[in-house]
Amino acid sequence: MQPKEASMGSNDIPFLNTGIWNGKLFLSGWNTAGKAHEILEPATGSVLTRVGMATPEDAAEAAKRARAAQAAWAALPYEQRAAIFRKAAVIIERESDGMTQWIVRETGCIPPKAGVELHMAVGILNEAAAMVTQPSGLVLPSDGGRISLARRVPHGVVGVISPFNFPLILSIRAVAPALAAGNTVVLKPDPHTPITGGYLIARVFEEAGLPKDCLQVLPGGADVGQAMCADPNIAMISFTGSTGAGRSVGEQAGRTLKKVTLELGGKNRLVILDDADVDLAASCAAWGCYLHQGQICMTTGVILVHEKIAAKVTELLAGKASHLPVGDPATQQVALGPLINERQRDRVHGIVQDSIKQGAKLAAGGTYEGNFYKPTVLTGVKPGMRCFEEEVFGPVASVVSFSSEDEAVELANRTEYGLSLGVISASTSRALALAARIPTGLLHINDQTVADEPHIPFGGRGSSGNGGRHGGPANWEEFTQWQWVTIKDSAPRYPF
Ligand code: NAD
Repeated sequence: MQPKEASMGSNDIPFLNTGIWNGKLFLSGWNTAGKAHEILEPATGSVLTRVGMATPEDAAEAAKRARAAQAAWAALPYEQRAAIFRKAAVIIERESDGMTQWIVRETGCIPPKAGVELHMAVGILNEAAAMVTQPSGLVLPSDGGRISLARRVPHGVVGVISPFNFPLILSIRAVAPALAAGNTVVLKPDPHTPITGGYLIARVFEEAGLPKDCLQVLPGGADVGQAMCADPNIAMISFTGSTGAGRSVGEQAGRTLKKVTLELGGKNRLVILDDADVDLAASCAAWGCYLHQGQICMTTGVILVHEKIAAKVTELLAGKASHLPVGDPATQQVALGPLINERQRDRVHGIVQDSIKQGAKLAAGGTYEGNFYKPTVLTGVKPGMRCFEEEVFGPVASVVSFSSEDEAVELANRTEYGLSLGVISASTSRALALAARIPTGLLHINDQTVADEPHIPFGGRGSSGNGGRHGGPANWEEFTQWQWVTIKDSAPRYPF
């Protein structure tokens, strides 16, 4: 059966009229692609719009054009470059109502999550504007009266590959600082969410006055991502996505000796100590597990709770799970929207069912209608069960109890991932001491695991990433490299 066409209210807004991108790529401006790709609304299955679907050859062309544009972009007066980022931020604020509709309908999220994406995007653009005027080097001592400088220079072309879950933030957090550092960019958003993760950004920069070819946006699949990793005109890959795909990106980029930043999956721990306030702990757990249906790299994947309060925390959490409304966030006031597609839903359900077979107890949820999965609580979870071991990427709380801090640390460390950790306790020093024994990229004392801000160095350890970071001081480390420069009044005479 053909999916029905959705009507987008934002078509009345000139900035977001779907005619601009229908069947097109943003390759040296808007150009019709060889193949069109339908974007389905996860809540209804209707067709929201069509975009062009890039090929590996398109990626090569985009990289070539981006490389040709890079030197002129980096040489543009800093005031002009900063003004483009400031203007881009203002455009997002101006167009936020229409953009909210797109983010809600394309990603299946509740409007406040769309608000977070837009708020972060504005913050990231303003940070990028400020980055342009930050000091970019050091004066070093040197022999022989020469001037010796270490300065940060752009890589050239940065390839950005992003996922479907928070597409605007996860694309723009790399696109904006990469451009601000003087690089040009080829962006490949996920084919489920090319508008939020790609074309909204293209539209914003187009109107903000970014020179042609500095940003190319190519909706496409893994083949296009692989072509970008192998392309000799791309000097760096900034990848956000699953650990499996990240491994392949790392291998591919290694062959061409590209710099590569990998922001990958997570199985994040929320540790609740015996002195915690049970109401607050249950609230943190519900937010950390269910925000955006658990489709966040920082989602609370395992709740480790002291056995003294485990029953109470589980009861409160199951009560919340049973009452949180689930439905179409574009038409109803709900707490949870749909999962991105049927394949993800089946995977989530498979993990829940297998974990129950392995001995976990279902305290809430465990059922679905369409792509809408009920907030779920599994208790009695143990290492070896699928819900303990795997990143679920669905609204599933896995509760594990422990009897001592040593056991909590041992259970927390039984994972290959290391993205985000939350510890809840009445004693800050106790929580900090426990956290010091668990490797993690992000640590939140007395909070759950999901948080981000435009200027913080975001990233994970182990299978959550290769130590690269996005945000704040990390942007200089990732999107530029050092160049040593010496300057003399005149050339010296050597013995040869
Ligand atoms: P995914 O790995 O399937 O896809 C992510 C992107 O990579 C998409 O654009 C996809 O087309 C592309 N891709 C897939 N295979 C590729 C390959 N072999 N070579 C090059 N590109 C390839 O991930 P997903 O399912 O869209 O996203 C969910 C995953 O992303 C989860 O594991 C989640 O934890 C992770 N994630 C991590 C962060 C972070 O900052 N650490 C943030 C959000 C999501």
